[in-house]
Amino acid sequence: MPIAPIPLPRAGGLSMPSVGIGTWRIGEGARPRADEVAALRHAHALGFRHFDTAEMYGDGRAEEVLGEAMRGLDRDGLFLVSKVYPWNAGAGDIRRSCEASLARLGTDRLDLYLLHWPGSIPFEETLDGMRALRDDGRIRAFGISNFDADDLAHLEEAGLADEIAVNQVMHNIPERGIEVDLLPMMKAAGIACVAYSPLEAAPLCRIPDMRDLAEEVGLTMPQFSLAWHVTRGVSVPIPKSGDPAHLDELRDAVDVTLPASVLERVDALAPPRQGALAIR
Ligand code: NAP
Repeated sequence: MPIAPIPLPRAGGLSMPSVGIGTWRIGEGARPRADEVAALRHAHALGFRHFDTAEMYGDGRAEEVLGEAMRGLDRDGLFLVSKVYPWNAGAGDIRRSCEASLARLGTDRLDLYLLHWPGSIPFEETLDGMRALRDDGRIRAFGISNFDADDLAHLEEAGLADEIAVNQVMHNIPERGIEVDLLPMMKAAGIACVAYSPLEAAPLCRIPDMRDLAEEVGLTMPQFSLAWHVTRGVSVPIPKSGDPAHLDELRDAVDVTLPASVLERVDALAPPRQGALAIR
């Protein structure tokens, strides 16, 4: 089945593939570059079209690897996301950062550009910079990342959130705090939630009985995590893998719908708990 798009109400008519692929720790030498390029091309061949990166990842090398992997592919079919460091999100710097990301990616536009986390530069300045980039066609939409419920409430109260298409935050089975406060707020506002670190395999395995539950439905733990996200549809998962066999597994999991009884058992084993936004 193709990966379905979801609408981004605060970005006009734009939509975003409902599962993406992350690139954190790519371009950092963990694997040969050619293997990382091949893995990302494999992800594309499997039908993934949404790729998440940042100027931070490998000091720009993740963007370079992704750019090399996407070279020659139909650009209109891709959904490319990058992020600006908070200290580069001021009036002039944001354009410099964006242009540098575009050059490393080998493209003339980003589909989505995010402020990586809240910083000290007044958000009005970032907003002006994002709007200017959008008006020039360098980005199609913009958003934020690692903003908690209070951060978002401040933006809403100040009238600065109207064009924010997404907030990218940590969301996985062991870390569901956003479901208590942030997620309902975002849903009401029409701001899409992108789930980073969606697999969180090690902490997941430590939850008693979770492995048995995954085994019962015939899934590996990373597959179980991804199927949980896709079945619920409350946030857009962007798992990372630099391994083609792992990507095959993840692609299979995208098509899995977990029964309601399994979702209920996950809720019982790992309920959402109020707490500070988890940040990586
Ligand atoms: P993740 O996607 O939850 O987990 C990635 C880990 O899972 C990797 O070690 C990967 O190893 C492994 N893995 C993937 N598929 C597997 C499989 N089928 N079997 C076994 N292991 C598997 O964590 P993440 O990389 O932290 O988060 C995903 C993306 O979110 C990042 O890459 C990045 O794009 C974004 N992110 C954003 C922020 C932010 O502040 N906005 C923060 C963190 C992450 P292999 O490579 O060996 O498969």
